[in-house]
Amino acid sequence: MSTHDQFRELIEAYALGSLDSADRAVIEAHLASGCAECAKALEEARWIVSQLAHLAPAAEPSDMLKGRLLQTVRAEAAGGPGRQEAVRGAAVPWWLWAGVAALLLFSAYSTWNERHLRDAVANLQRQAEAQRAERQKLEQQLRAAKIQAHEAMIWSDPKSVKIKMPPKDPNMPQLEAMWHPEMGLVVRGWKVPSPGEKRVLQLWLIPKTGGKPMPSVTFWPDADGTFTAMVENPPDALSDTQALAITEEPMGGSPQPTSAPMWVGGVS
Ligand SMILES: [Zn+2]
Repeated sequence: MSTHDQFRELIEAYALGSLDSADRAVIEAHLASGCAECAKALEEARWIVSQLAHLAPAAEPSDMLKGRLLQTVRAEAAGGPGRQEAVRGAAVPWWLWAGVAALLLFSAYSTWNERHLRDAVANLQRQAEAQRAERQKLEQQLRAAKIQAHEAMIWSDPKSVKIKMPPKDPNMPQLEAMWHPEMGLVVRGWKVPSPGEKRVLQLWLIPKTGGKPMPSVTFWPDADGTFTAMVENPPDALSDTQALAITEEPMGGSPQPTSAPMWVGGVS
């Protein structure tokens, strides 16, 4: 076996820049001796490596990746005794090993790169999702704050008319409403029992003209029996309304009352 046969397998590793300094020195000494065959092999290996760089341009593979690749190629080259025989016997040409090295490097790099990209994309998606959730939360808080401010203004404005709404059932609490001629109407209750299953409470405006009750908002008391129902644009004017009434209705409310009023309050 000639000297350069021993180094053929290392040429591609040399082209990849994966050799330790001792091996590198030996290879360089051999090349410096003027072996045309090894010089040509190196040229080809470098061409393959340059093509690789072209195929996977985003980042340099890490030294660790190169090291692992080199180990794999060396293990393949060492193989079993029969395999080694085949290699030593030059049945497998040097450029096939260069090709194996190139493929291994490319596939290892692609796998690394793909996982890296997938992680980065997943991370960005998580961030976007968190930002979206945060923005939704803020918008919700802002909406709730606006409604609360609006209710507070109606409740405290001297132009608002206070309406007491006594219950028909003496065991039920009394409700209170405030009606501002421009800002709207707020009804509040405390310790109000929850309506039956799939039922809601609904507010009605009884017109002075004696017409049919006009449907307004539906609402539920919370776990403590507290509720605040705001109507920004009541279906009729304060001055045209004789009374407010609240009934229990099926989910979604009704176009006209389907049960007797549980609370009624005279407006004027
Ligand atoms: Zn040689």
